[in-house]
Amino acid sequence: MEIRKSQGIVLSSRPTGEADRSICAFTREYGKKSFIFKGLRKSKKRAMAASEPGTMLELVYYFHDGRDFHIVNEFTIKKQYSDLRGNLEKMIFMFFLLELVDKTTATANPVPRLFDMLAAALDVLRETDRPAHLASFFALHLLRTEGVISDVGACKHCGRTEMQKFAIDFQDFLPLCETCAARFSITPSLSRSVLDFIKSSATKKFSAMNLDAASREQMLDMLFVLCMFVERYFNVNLKTKSMVLSKNL
Ligand SMILES: [Zn+2]
Repeated sequence: MEIRKSQGIVLSSRPTGEADRSICAFTREYGKKSFIFKGLRKSKKRAMAASEPGTMLELVYYFHDGRDFHIVNEFTIKKQYSDLRGNLEKMIFMFFLLELVDKTTATANPVPRLFDMLAAALDVLRETDRPAHLASFFALHLLRTEGVISDVGACKHCGRTEMQKFAIDFQDFLPLCETCAARFSITPSLSRSVLDFIKSSATKKFSAMNLDAASREQMLDMLFVLCMFVERYFNVNLKTKSMVLSKNL
């Protein structure tokens, strides 16, 4: 048994046993791991906040090789996003970002770059009035970081780069121009501005993106495609998808 220290972002949390709480956290050093806080429900408010999804913690825990979970010995709350709870839309998007990381990463497989991206995205989510744009941007970066998608520029069949409308193949996340999509009976639901968004997201920071170029509705269309692709590729079900895609928020 050894004592380990790591930074983690709470992805999900649930009560367990008499007064314990179990969390799944994405740690910077060791990837996704499960932890147990002993007696947390009996203790103070601050301690309860430690197990809230989105919270960034510094954890000190006993590491047992081969165990599915680790007992937290000490913790410090680094950042909290409980203020997002006053904004339903932002809160839903926060849960979506956390679920995306949870469902696309393997246990105990560290991806420090993804940890930093998630931490940055949660900070931006607090400030931005474009959570749908942020979620699309984050999902695209996540898929690039995990090496799942390659650069999207031309129609996968005819190589055309000028596309007013296009579709994305759920199998490989490559675009199909209007003509090629029609040949496969696929509706080209995405507009030119979405393609520009995808392209510029590969080289620009979120703060440098022209967010006015694509509307919220266009971003939700893009997120729908992203969700379909992620569910298929990782063979998962994104529970927050229906809430995120709801146009009535
Ligand atoms: Zn084509």
